[in-house]
Amino acid sequence: MTAPLDVLVVGGGPTGLALAAQLRSYGTRFRIVDRSTDRVHESRALAIQPRTLEVLAGLGVTDELVAWGNPAMKLRMHLPRRVVAMGLFNIGVTDTPYPYLLFLSQAETERVFAERLAAQDVPIERRTELVRLEPADEEVRCWLRRRDGIEEVVEARYVVGCDGAHSIVRAQAGIDFEGYAYPQTFLLADLEVDGLEPGAVHTYMTGIGMLFFFPLGSPATWRMFLMRPPEAPDAEVTLPLLQGITDRYTDDGLVLRDPVWMTDFRLHNRGASRYRAGRCFLAGDAAHIHSPAGAQGMNTGIQDALNLGWKLALVCRGAAPEELLETYGTERAPVGRVVRSFTDRAFTIGTSSNPAIRLARTQLAPRLAPLALRSTALRRRLFRTVSELGIHSRRGPGAGDRLL
Ligand SMILES: Cc1cc2nc3c(=O)[nH]c(=O)nc-3n(C[C@H](O)[C@H](O)[C@H](O)COP(=O)(O)OP(=O)(O)OC[C@H]3O[C@@H](n4cnc5c(N)ncnc54)[C@H](O)[C@@H]3O)c2cc1C
Repeated sequence: MTAPLDVLVVGGGPTGLALAAQLRSYGTRFRIVDRSTDRVHESRALAIQPRTLEVLAGLGVTDELVAWGNPAMKLRMHLPRRVVAMGLFNIGVTDTPYPYLLFLSQAETERVFAERLAAQDVPIERRTELVRLEPADEEVRCWLRRRDGIEEVVEARYVVGCDGAHSIVRAQAGIDFEGYAYPQTFLLADLEVDGLEPGAVHTYMTGIGMLFFFPLGSPATWRMFLMRPPEAPDAEVTLPLLQGITDRYTDDGLVLRDPVWMTDFRLHNRGASRYRAGRCFLAGDAAHIHSPAGAQGMNTGIQDALNLGWKLALVCRGAAPEELLETYGTERAPVGRVVRSFTDRAFTIGTSSNPAIRLARTQLAPRLAPLALRSTALRRRLFRTVSELGIHSRRGPGAGDRLL
C-alpha cells in the first residue's frame, strides 16, 4: 500500500467533479472514482443558478458553461384565456455578473467539468466502486473494486461521499438519511415542440394541473415536466401519451415530436442527519434530495463541494487547523434544510388536490402573481431566494457574507 492520499472523492457526478476541480486548483493529493462506465447522458438537472456560476468562475469553467447554456429571462404563464408575460430574471440585480437562470442539461455540465479535469491531467477513475470503508484514527481505509474484478485498498486522510442518493459512504459512516417519498409520480421528456415561443419558460396553469416547458437547448429544445395525471397511473411514457395530456392542458395546438428522453419518476425529500462522521463527509445528493422545484438540487450539491474543497485543501497542507472542517456542516446543513423546506412548500402548492389550495393555484395565483410581480422589490427577493444569492454564513463559526 502506498502513502495515504489526502482525499478520496467517491462519485463523479456534478458534486464530485466540482470538488475534484477545486482540490486540483489547490494541488491537493486526491483521487476521484466512479462506478459507472461514463458520465450521464440524460439531461436530468437542467438549470444553473447565478450563485453556482459565481463560485465556479474561479475554477475556469463558468465561461464555458455560459457559452453552452441558454439564459432564460422570460416566463410565459398560460391561463385559460390569456398569456401573462413576465421578465422574471431581468430585474436590475447588479451585484452578480450572471443575473439569470442558465438552462443547460446536466450531461453538458458534466462534460464541461470532465474536459476541464482532463486538460489538467486529472483522471476520473471509472468502473471503480467503493465497496467498504473502515475509519481509523489517522486515515480511512477504503476498498475499491474495479469492473475487471481487481480490488485495491486505499488509505485516505479524508473521504467525501459525492455518491448520490444511495450513498455507500453515508451508509458505511452510519449516517441516517431521514425523510419521506412523495406519493405522486412525475413525467419528464426532452423533445421538440412546435408552437411554443422559443427561449422562454412556459407554464400552463389549469384546473387539471400544471404543465411546464423549459428551454433546454440540448439534447432537445424543450424539457417537458408535469405530474402524472391520475387517469393514467401506470401507462408507459410514450409520445402519444404526452401529446394526449398536452392537448387536454392547452388548446394552443402544440405538437410534440422527436423525443430524446422520456421517463417517469418519484420524488423524495430526505436529508442526512449529519454531514460528517469522523473523517468521512457527505456532499450533494448523498446529503440531501428534494423536489426539483426552483432548480436547486445540483446547484446545492456543487456549492456544498466548493464550501468543503478549499477547507480540506488547507487542512491537508497544514495551513489551517482541523477545526475548520467543522464549519462545513454548520454552514451547509442549514442550507440543505432551507432548500428542502422551500422546495417542499413549492411542491405542495403545485400538486395539492386540497380544494382551497387548488382554488388558490388555479384562480387566485394566476390573477395575483402578475400584479405582485410588478413589484421590483418582490421580484428581486424571489430571485435572490431561488438563485441562492442570499446565502451567507453570518451566524456560523466561519461567519461571513458571500464573496464574488
Ligand atoms: C430523472 C431525474 C431528473 C432530474 N431533474 C432535475 C432537475 O430538473 N433539476 C435539478 O436540480 N435536479 C434534477 N435531478 C437531480 C440531479 O440530477 C441531482 O441533484 C444531481 O445529479 C446530484 O449530483 P451528485 O453529484 O450529488 O449525485 P449524482 O449525480 O447522483 O452522482 C453520484 C455519482 O456517484 C457514483 N457512485 C455511486 N455509488 C458509488 C460507489 N459506491 N462507488 C463509486 N461511485 C459511486 C454514481 O455512479 C454517480 O456518478 C434529476 C434527477 C433525475 C434522476
